[in-house]
Amino acid sequence: MKPIKKRLLTPGPTMVPERVLEALSRPTLYHRSPEFKRIFLETRELLKRVLRTEGEVLILTSSGTGAMEAAVSNLFNPGDSAVVVVGGKFGQRWQELCLTYGVEPVVIEVEWGRAVKVEEVKRALEENPGVKGVLVQICETSTGTIHPVREIGELLKNYPEALLIADGITAYGVYDIPTDEWGIDVAITGSQKALMTPPGLAVISLNGRAQERLEQVEERAYYFNLKKELKQQRKGQTAYTTATNLVVALNEALKMIEEEGLGEVARRHALLAEATREGIKALGLELFSESPANGVTAVRVPEGIDGQEIVKIAREEFGVTIAGGQEHLKGKIFRLSHMGYVDIFDVLTGLEVAEFALKKLGYDSFKLGSSVGAAMEVFSQKG
Ligand SMILES: *Cc1c(COP(=O)(O)O)cnc(C)c1O
Repeated sequence: MKPIKKRLLTPGPTMVPERVLEALSRPTLYHRSPEFKRIFLETRELLKRVLRTEGEVLILTSSGTGAMEAAVSNLFNPGDSAVVVVGGKFGQRWQELCLTYGVEPVVIEVEWGRAVKVEEVKRALEENPGVKGVLVQICETSTGTIHPVREIGELLKNYPEALLIADGITAYGVYDIPTDEWGIDVAITGSQKALMTPPGLAVISLNGRAQERLEQVEERAYYFNLKKELKQQRKGQTAYTTATNLVVALNEALKMIEEEGLGEVARRHALLAEATREGIKALGLELFSESPANGVTAVRVPEGIDGQEIVKIAREEFGVTIAGGQEHLKGKIFRLSHMGYVDIFDVLTGLEVAEFALKKLGYDSFKLGSSVGAAMEVFSQKG
């Protein structure tokens, strides 16, 4: 049977709700108009509530990496050092950004699939006095791993010189994260993951400490200049033309999150993740991460099977896009996303398509439907 429908189950971009697509298709607004200004200010307020911060929240016109780059180029002077947790592709990106801007990275190498230990961060801080920041992912998407950012925030209370800069691109909108309470000085997210909006917008929050740092640091960035943006965005303006249609769409998506309730959104993701994990285990497969996240599940591919083939079969024969592994994990894992506009039936789809592909590739020590059955059990008991 040829696939007649396409389904998107990758950890970004993710599926966009009909309501958001409708908002996206409204006539383009002038970015200096009163109407857009109102929407922009409201969107910033909605973001503050999703991030649970009293700090300033800036919207940048770029993918998520733009906000990561802005954090490094605006909050550090050349020659500063920063502790960087590198446990996957996105941790590496922090490291590369530091090198690009002359910030010396104090790297904590974490085996991919493992969460950093707070003691490792503590040791790095002790051994490198004067560190100006800690750069970490809340969820390392490449391995489906959640890092203990709350505990790192607790630790950093003893290091007032170091800003906690957390890439929460696949964490905000998956978990209910009290940014201020956790001591996250700078939080980063993007439109195309759990925020259920097409790619193109990045979000960065700055608490009081981060705003002070902004004032102290030599100005180096032109487009991603947070000082300039802060001044403009407080007034509902942006320094340059923003993607007005995307802002309108994001506004709608954030309203959907608010209507569902942040607590309920987090509960849904926890349940979807648990169901996925139980489904995977029912096939005799192993999770890749020892600290699995609620937005994406990474699955170890059985010996003798090429994980890229699973991804290919899913896409070509079933119209379902799932993700493979990156770098040295290529072929070794596949990833099922369950973040954003996702419900139980999407989870069942992801599991079933993995079953079909595995059978086809010769891994058949399971009965068709067993992962789906295990996932349904989770839902019927807790859903
Ligand atoms: C997706 C993602 C990013 C940003 O990637 P872009 O392609 O620039 O949007 C950064 N960090 C994490 C953890 C991500 O999942």
